[in-house]
Amino acid sequence: MKYFIIVMTLFVFACESQPEATPEAAPAQTNGAAALNEAEADAKAKELGICASDEACSDGQFCNMAQCESCCPPGVAVCNSACCGRCADKTEVKVTPLQHASMILEWEGIKIAVDPIEDALKNAPGDEPKVDVILVTDIHGDHYNQAGIDALKTDKTIIVAPKAVVDMAEGKLDGAQVIGNGEATFLFDKKIRVEGVAMYNLKRKRDSGELFHIKGRGNGYILEMGGQRVYLSGDTECIDEMKALKDIDVAFVCMNLPYTMPVEEAAECIKAFKPKKLYPFHHRGQDPKKLDELLKGEEIEIKYLNWYPAGQ
Ligand SMILES: [Zn+2]
Repeated sequence: MKYFIIVMTLFVFACESQPEATPEAAPAQTNGAAALNEAEADAKAKELGICASDEACSDGQFCNMAQCESCCPPGVAVCNSACCGRCADKTEVKVTPLQHASMILEWEGIKIAVDPIEDALKNAPGDEPKVDVILVTDIHGDHYNQAGIDALKTDKTIIVAPKAVVDMAEGKLDGAQVIGNGEATFLFDKKIRVEGVAMYNLKRKRDSGELFHIKGRGNGYILEMGGQRVYLSGDTECIDEMKALKDIDVAFVCMNLPYTMPVEEAAECIKAFKPKKLYPFHHRGQDPKKLDELLKGEEIEIKYLNWYPAGQ
């Protein structure tokens, strides 16, 4: 910990040469920084609000690593995850389920619709729901629906989608931010980071032999906002990439057949990456309550919401 803070203190001066420099860090102090003892380095780090982990922040705050990429653009060699995270206040992400895979997340007044399909919007609160961001995971009709997108978007709405969806939209999503698995984009002056993650079938396929979801076509997403990492699985089976997820605070995991995976298989994957909070969703025809038993003894808070208000 102390080592990191010293390293951060050394590195922060390089980071601070970027446009978002704070005034007190602006003078070049590379020589002086090396002379700081541990206590001084700790104090300096706290004063600057820099951090390498949540421990370095006060209660109710988190270490916002998105800020690291914000102050040190890609390619700046001295910037790494240990150097310039910034402490920020933790704030709640509100979840409104619409139907099946469609939902609205809300954080600090920013509304994010995930896979909004027109039929699901009858369950949306308010007369004229508009959103700031729309995330689309895949080409299938329960995820990409142009009418649903058109109903929610304004001139300012940011749409994030995989290339296959934008291709399918034939020009209607031309302004979208296209990301693929392993790629990320920042929204709202880098307040929110959106990363595309893998989602695909391992064995479940159509009669034709084609997997329902081919690797690389669709995106699950990890959203970083409000001090939380929110994972949206997309349509997937229990793939290695899901098992390897780290530090997920909130997870939305699909579980239905024949397109994704049964509840039991989802539970195995969930045990592997241990989200703090789990929202089973996309579970048409399944009994997600089985998770109470399947995840017994795990420190995972399971949140059952009504994803099928109009019946299955
Ligand atoms: Zn689906």
